[in-house]
Amino acid sequence: MNIHLPHDTAATPTMPVLFIGHGSPMHAIEDSAFSRAWQEMGASLPAPRAILVISAHWMTRGTSLVHIGARPRTIHDFGGFPRALHEMHYPAPGAPDLAAETLELLHAHHAEADVEWGLDHGAWCILSRLYPKADVPVYQLSLDLSRPLADHLTLARDLRRLRKRGVLIVGSGNIVHNLMATRHGATPYEWAAEFDDLVATAITDRAHGRLAEFSPGDPLFRACHPTLEHYLPLLYSLGATEGGDKPEFFTQGIESGALSMRSVIFRPEAP
Ligand code: ZN
Repeated sequence: MNIHLPHDTAATPTMPVLFIGHGSPMHAIEDSAFSRAWQEMGASLPAPRAILVISAHWMTRGTSLVHIGARPRTIHDFGGFPRALHEMHYPAPGAPDLAAETLELLHAHHAEADVEWGLDHGAWCILSRLYPKADVPVYQLSLDLSRPLADHLTLARDLRRLRKRGVLIVGSGNIVHNLMATRHGATPYEWAAEFDDLVATAITDRAHGRLAEFSPGDPLFRACHPTLEHYLPLLYSLGATEGGDKPEFFTQGIESGALSMRSVIFRPEAP
């Protein structure tokens, strides 16, 4: 007897969406409350078919790129860290099929295929904790810095369908990121704590649009983000959510005065 089962979409649960406050690359090799929380989170999630990372460290201008390589290289895009970090590799395969699908979904946004990039440290430092076996295919989407804030949110809405295809979407940046202001061991600056709270409240209230309305001249926003690249990945995570998703903050805290380590998972509504 032939039994026809629906294939491909069968048993693929809608994946949650993550935003990870990545902070220092040292979390990849040093035990910390954050690295442990990332590890526990990875172990608790349904197995993804692939992971799409939108990292603060892949910036482009005038176009959004999707990496389509089958074997993404580990990029050591930092300096002055211990040799162990420079020698670390994250050998996860790429996801050319899902990258091609992503390009189709982003057609209206003029996204283009890329074969040069790989995995920058905003991706592999957190993935080495979330999925230490490096056995889940990974690909990245770049941040087109020429887009206004609201465009990043709009573009990310077209990524939502990937969640039903088993793709875990991960934004990797920091809700507060001012490296010039950081001081080792410093307590949080008042403005850093204020902005971190304000963003957390907007996430809880699902007031995502509010988070894409900051003007570049806003003094609080400028203090927390003298440059935008660590803020933008949050807009991708928010844009990829659905109305029923429940946010849960699974790490928080401000390191070195001005680096928010807040991370959030958006879990789909129970069916
Ligand atoms: Zn970074």
